[in-house]
Amino acid sequence: MEKILDIQDLHVSFTTYGGEVQAVRGVNLELFRGETLAIVGESGCGKSVTANSIMKLIPSPPGKIKQGSIYFKGRDMTKLSDKEVRSIRGVDISMIFQDPMTALNPTLTIGTQLTEGLRHHRSISSKEANELAVDMLNLVGIPNPVERLKQYPHQFSGGMRQRIVIAMALICEPELLIADEPTTALDVTIQAQILQLFKKIQDQTGVSIILITHDLGVVAKIADRIAVMYAGKVIETGTRREIFYTPQHPYTKGLLHSVPRLDQKGEKLIPIDGTPPDLFSPPEGCPFTARCPMAMEVCSRVYPFQSELSATHEVDCWLQDERAKKYMMTTN
Ligand code: SF4
Ligand code: MG
Repeated sequence: MEKILDIQDLHVSFTTYGGEVQAVRGVNLELFRGETLAIVGESGCGKSVTANSIMKLIPSPPGKIKQGSIYFKGRDMTKLSDKEVRSIRGVDISMIFQDPMTALNPTLTIGTQLTEGLRHHRSISSKEANELAVDMLNLVGIPNPVERLKQYPHQFSGGMRQRIVIAMALICEPELLIADEPTTALDVTIQAQILQLFKKIQDQTGVSIILITHDLGVVAKIADRIAVMYAGKVIETGTRREIFYTPQHPYTKGLLHSVPRLDQKGEKLIPIDGTPPDLFSPPEGCPFTARCPMAMEVCSRVYPFQSELSATHEVDCWLQDERAKKYMMTTN
């Protein structure tokens, strides 16, 4: 399978009055063509910062990519000029955010907004652009597209608006779509429909998708692989099956226990006690130590090595590592 995106040892920090926040601390992630990778974790874990780094959307200052590379189809995005990145943004890589209203201009018709990207990046006639816009509205399931193109955002429901935003993101046929909490602002039934829509779009267009969410429940049906982030690090990655059925990191297990599951009705949901560490001065060892029911002495002192549990399943936890014993003995 072709690797479309390869993030290597990414470090991103923000300078604030209180000091430097180390939001992303050595993230490694890869994405293969045509797959959906979900990045999951609590707010502040670095998932949005990681995604925004891909598109060079980190406001600088205060933000800065301190270290690492982000290869998109073999080119390191961190080394490209702003002009080069702009030619990729919206064309090869598109992003969708949580609130569709911020992506739509209330004073312009849907048709104008949908075709804007095309007019900007491609030399095509307005007739062709309109036809493509109609095709896109059909693809995202908006009825009567020809009439609807003449309407304004306020004439659509929240779910419909998010469909329009998705259509806008897809009209230039990007190879990578990054969706950051795309269903969080929507009610549960509409959420399910939008997630279905992502799956359908992927089947029809082959687009690769990164889906960012704090809610593991959201990715249960559509993610091929899942990366769990905690305190600026990816602490476990695996296929959807591996993460849901054989999670190994205590944090991943905690997340799963705090998600309602359809197949386990009546089971009590257990929230994870405590809060993530302060990223002004992140701990030396495993950042989950203070909240981890399994924590050992070595955990607070030394960050665990990555253990490979299968070709697709990796975890950063001392419980999976034979060397934990040695470290406890030799470094005591
Ligand atoms: Fe818990 Fe230690 Fe594993 Fe961290 S390394 S998750 S503290 S057992
Ligand atoms: Mg976020």
